Amino acid sequence: MNILILGGGGREHALAWAIRQNPKCDRLIVAPGNAGIAEIARCASLDINSRSEVLLFAEENAIDFVVIGPEAPLAAGVSDALRAAGFLVFGPSQQAAQLEASKTFTKEICDACGAPTAGWARFSDAASARAHIREQGAPIVVKADGLAAGKGVTVAETVEQANAAIDAIFDGEFGEMSVVIEEFMAGEEASFFVLCDGSDCLSVGTAQDHKRVGAGDTGPNTGGMGAYSPAPILTPQLQEQVMARIIRPTVAEMARRGTPFQGVLYAGLMIHEGQARLVEYNVRFGDPECQALMMRLGAQVLDLLLACAEGRLSDAVVTWADDHALTVVMAAEGYPGSYQKGTVINGLNTISESSFEMVFHAGTADRDGVVTASGGRVLGCTGRGESLAEAHRRAYALVDSIDWPEGFCRRDIGWRAL
Ligand code: ATP
Repeated sequence: MNILILGGGGREHALAWAIRQNPKCDRLIVAPGNAGIAEIARCASLDINSRSEVLLFAEENAIDFVVIGPEAPLAAGVSDALRAAGFLVFGPSQQAAQLEASKTFTKEICDACGAPTAGWARFSDAASARAHIREQGAPIVVKADGLAAGKGVTVAETVEQANAAIDAIFDGEFGEMSVVIEEFMAGEEASFFVLCDGSDCLSVGTAQDHKRVGAGDTGPNTGGMGAYSPAPILTPQLQEQVMARIIRPTVAEMARRGTPFQGVLYAGLMIHEGQARLVEYNVRFGDPECQALMMRLGAQVLDLLLACAEGRLSDAVVTWADDHALTVVMAAEGYPGSYQKGTVINGLNTISESSFEMVFHAGTADRDGVVTASGGRVLGCTGRGESLAEAHRRAYALVDSIDWPEGFCRRDIGWRAL
């Protein structure tokens, strides 16, 4: 079959790498792709957030299956346009994608189906938000209600910090906004990835990521500096609890509203004293978590995504190896602040990649045969092994074989579980 993947980050490189290995995949096109993806698929330049452009491209290239990587095309309704034209699509509808795009929407779904999450209130003016904070005290969490690329959340330790966050939101830092104020939840965070076909659900793994830029979880937040899978804190019993109390009720509530969820539901969870509560939903694979997940799942990913898109998840099974995977993100010096683009990365061609060692490209470009950095997060060095320690050793061996003076990484990915 002819497959089109939308996106051009480490997530899409990992998806393309896994899908490519499945004999069902004939032609693979990734839009826009990157220098690493170009080695295993055709890269096409395309406005992936434009319904009409993606639709035309899929028609002209006789695409049989479209896999949507990032959230922006989902929020723009690209999946709806493709489905309406008869294409098979992996990724939720625009309505269902509200589970990521709108914090209020998700909270209302949780309230309706009884899924445990932080207590919350929503305000559309600064004065009532401030009054609520005065009443509740700190610590407290302030969130801009909308897609703010992870930058719209303040976990405030004091009332002053919370008020400053309120002011920033209503001063228009994120455009037209309302604010959601949440109870602070203590605990350890983990991610749970579940395929949903509208009615049935199938776990495709757990992971933990590292949001802060610096060692020991210090410094500003990033898109993610590394991840590992599985997350030991999400024991099989806890996964069953999350399925029963959070995931299945959410999927049933979405179906009841006439907006069934079809795609991957990525639940960000807070775990405290053996109980899990929902922090947030995302409606696509996380990056870099996806790189570690794909390394573990391999070629079967295509069968699973197809079963999801075709509503056949009740018969689908995941074949698990008793393995671990770990991804170390290499980023451009300065990230998540300002950083230089176009610096040269050497050493990639000396690496022999396998199902145990892969360097996924996140932000790279090919400049006349030379790989250059084109983004903040640039490479995902991913190792797999029988133990997390082995996966860790392989991932850092990859890091050490890359010659990129303008790049850096965290040296402590996996510390919590190791
Ligand atoms: P992302 O880009 O990571 O998806 P987001 O903008 O969608 O972020 P959330 O995931 O809701 O925002 O929050 C970001 C982070 O803030 C969480 O990963 C968690 O560490 C922290 N956080 C959010 N809500 C709470 C809460 N109620 N209690 C404690 N910590 C929280």
